[in-house]
Formats: sequence, structure tokens, C-alpha cells
Amino acid sequence: MKSLIPKSYLLNFTVLVFAILNLVSVSASAADQALKASIEQYYQEHLEGLFVWFHQNPELSFLENKTSARLAEELRSLGVEVTEGVGGTGIVGMIENGEGPLVMIRADMDGLPILEDSGLSYMSRVRQVNLDGDEMPVMHACGHDMHVTSLVGTTKMLMDNRDKWSGTVMLVGQPAEEIINGAKAMIEDGLYERFGVPDYALGLHVASGMPSGAISIRDGIMYSSVDSVDIQVRGVGGHGAYPHQTVDPIYVASQLVIALQGIVSRQINPFSPAVITVGSFQGGNKHNIISDEVSLQLTVRTDSEAVRDQVLGSIRDTALNIGRLNGLPDDLLPIVRIGFESTPTTVNNYEAVHEVLPAWTTQLGYSPLTDSERTGMGGEDFAFFTRTEHEVPGVFFSVGGTPADVMQRIRAGEISAPPHHSPFFFIDPNSVKAGVEAMYTAAIHFLNNP
Ligand SMILES: [Zn+2]
Ligand SMILES: [Zn+2]
Repeated sequence: MKSLIPKSYLLNFTVLVFAILNLVSVSASAADQALKASIEQYYQEHLEGLFVWFHQNPELSFLENKTSARLAEELRSLGVEVTEGVGGTGIVGMIENGEGPLVMIRADMDGLPILEDSGLSYMSRVRQVNLDGDEMPVMHACGHDMHVTSLVGTTKMLMDNRDKWSGTVMLVGQPAEEIINGAKAMIEDGLYERFGVPDYALGLHVASGMPSGAISIRDGIMYSSVDSVDIQVRGVGGHGAYPHQTVDPIYVASQLVIALQGIVSRQINPFSPAVITVGSFQGGNKHNIISDEVSLQLTVRTDSEAVRDQVLGSIRDTALNIGRLNGLPDDLLPIVRIGFESTPTTVNNYEAVHEVLPAWTTQLGYSPLTDSERTGMGGEDFAFFTRTEHEVPGVFFSVGGTPADVMQRIRAGEISAPPHHSPFFFIDPNSVKAGVEAMYTAAIHFLNNP
């Protein structure tokens, strides 16, 4: 997940969640207390330590070798048949339990190139050589350690309760979510051809700044589309004192940066959110030399595929036209690269969310459905599992990961939540229990109600 959570939102959200938790203690008696007890017991015996192990052994995208090996070993020890090396370091575990639907549960596995400064006793000290050959510090700064631990817990509950459901479960350990290429790699490696097209795809993400253990979901869009765009602005270099003999690519690229913002503000329906951020602008190396090239790196976010097509098309047109405006010949017009790092919008299936809600409300004691404002345009490559040619109904939810005492200080305005992707990020390991409870409840609901 790529988003920061403003404090104002956190306060509102926290108040909302606590209001729900306090007011709706209904049907707590109907909840499966034995399930809660077995999750608690397995957490104490195994999951807490496992979470710490994953946290202390973070690995970069597509380099999750130890993580996937450990996950495979954990699933095998629970009796699951596991296939490794699906889409690089991805793994797939299959639980076959008679007639019924196929339900997929996905956990992403990768960490981030960040030097951990959380102060935790089990802080990561890991360094790893990345795919470009550079050694990097590595940290689980997005909570994917919680996701894989929860997957193991959910698997244990599914295996221990095989008499309570029937069908097939596909457990997916996905690589490289942080570079939004891992889900795609698994799909392209034949995930659905080899293991079947799921009837439902389930996923979760832990959230810093949400009370530990609280579950929330939306019945529509969860995450925006993401497209990285590279623009190579070419010019005609020369002496800085003779600009008339050149086409200055820094000037051209500067015009382009301004013009790109006009796409969002002047071309897109104001009720359709879109973001174009130019995150990198590189060009030139001396005061008095007009360079011949500038490289721009953009991230583009939208909430619908139509707007996404429109924005990406406009970026290409704008780049070419700004080049022409500055007198560049056709063979020196800007080169726009799109599609090397991208994911569609992650949209929950409305019917599926509303089908599982009563089961969650019974088990959790409150309805996790929220219509709270989204606070930014974070992305998730879970979308690749649902938006294949098969259109698999997806249910993706959030699990709160910030302990009660920290939430109290956040609410008092003393501190803000440790953001995802920051050196200070941390997750309450106990949130694993809620992840397991909500995921198991959803999975057996869909298995038993095809
Ligand atoms: Zn992330
Ligand atoms: Zn994440």
C-alpha cells in the first residue's frame, strides 16, 4: 500500500471505529468463541514468534527467497500442498476439501529499502543486494510481515476446521507488491491456468493509525490505479550564453511539468479524482551548459479505468505538443514510456462485500463497512487477481495495526501515526489475530455459500 494517512483523518476514523465498537456489541454471543480461543492459542504458541521472525528477515521485491521458503515450510507443516517459484518467488498452497467453490487468499511478502528506526526490540538489521546490484537496508515498513503471518494463521484455522466447510482454498504468497509487479508476474506465470480461476479472491492490508484489530472495508473502490511514466525530453544542447542556438530541454521539461497539471485541473471531470506527480526531474550538469536531455519520472493515480486512459493519453499528447511548440523536430520529440509499472484500480465487488458482511458482523460484533473518506490515492496490485479476463469478485479489507496506547496519544494530538513506508513504522503483532479471524470468517462464508 502506498499512502500516508493525515492526522485529521485518523482522528475521525478512530472516533468512528470506537463508536462502532462501543455501540454495536450486538450478537457477540452468536460469535464463534471457540474460533477466537483457538486463534488466541495458536497466536501465543506460534504466530507471535513467527511475526517477529518475518519482521527480522525482510526481503526486497522479487528477492523474497527466505520469506517464501519459510512460508512454504509453514504451510506444508500444516498439511498443505505447496508449489514454489510461481511468478518468481511466489508460492501457491492448495487445500482441497471436497466439492465447492475455489477461494483464493493472497498475502504479499516483500519489504522495503528503508533503514529501520522503529526502536522495536526485534528491529530489522538486514541488508540485501537489490536487483540493480546495490546493497540496501531492508525493513518491513508496510506490514507485509503481518500479512504472511495472518495467512499462516488462517491456514491453520481452515485445516483444523475442515468439517465446517467444503471446497478448495488457494493460498497465495505474492512477491513484489511494492513495485506493483508481483501479482502480474504470478498471473503471467499461469496462476489461474495451473491452479484454477477462483470464484472469489480475498486479501487484506494492515493499517497504521487504525486501532489494532479493527476491521474496515468499502463496498467499492479500495485503491487507485497506479502508472509510473517516464518521459525523456530531448533538446539541442549548447553554450548557456547562446540559448538561441539551442533547444533547452530544461525549459521544455519545465513547461511540460506545468502543462501536466493542466490535464488534471482542466481536462478531467472535477468529480473524478486524478493525480499526476512528477517525482523526479533530472537534467544538466553545469551552470553554463545547455544540456540535451532531461528525464522526468511521474506517478499517475486515478479511480476509474476510463479516467486512467484519458489521463495517460493526455500525458502523451501534451508531451509531444510541448515539444512541437518549442520547435523540436519529429525525431527529437519527447519519448513517453508507459506500462512498465502499473496496476488497475482495486475495486471490491459490491455484492460479495454485502454477502459476507452479516457473517463478519456476527463474528466481530460490529459491521466493518465504512463510507469514510479516502485520504489519498494509494495503490495495490491485488487488482491483477480480480481484473483478469475472468473478472474474479474481489474482497479486500483493512486491519488496524496501531496499539491502543499509541492510538490514545494520537487522539490526544501528541503524536501522529507512524506512516507506512517510513523508518518509524510499526505494527502491533496482535493485529494478526483480527486478520486471521476476519479472513477465516470470510473464506468459510464464501466456501459454504457459493
Ligand atoms: Zn507499501
Ligand atoms: Zn503494503
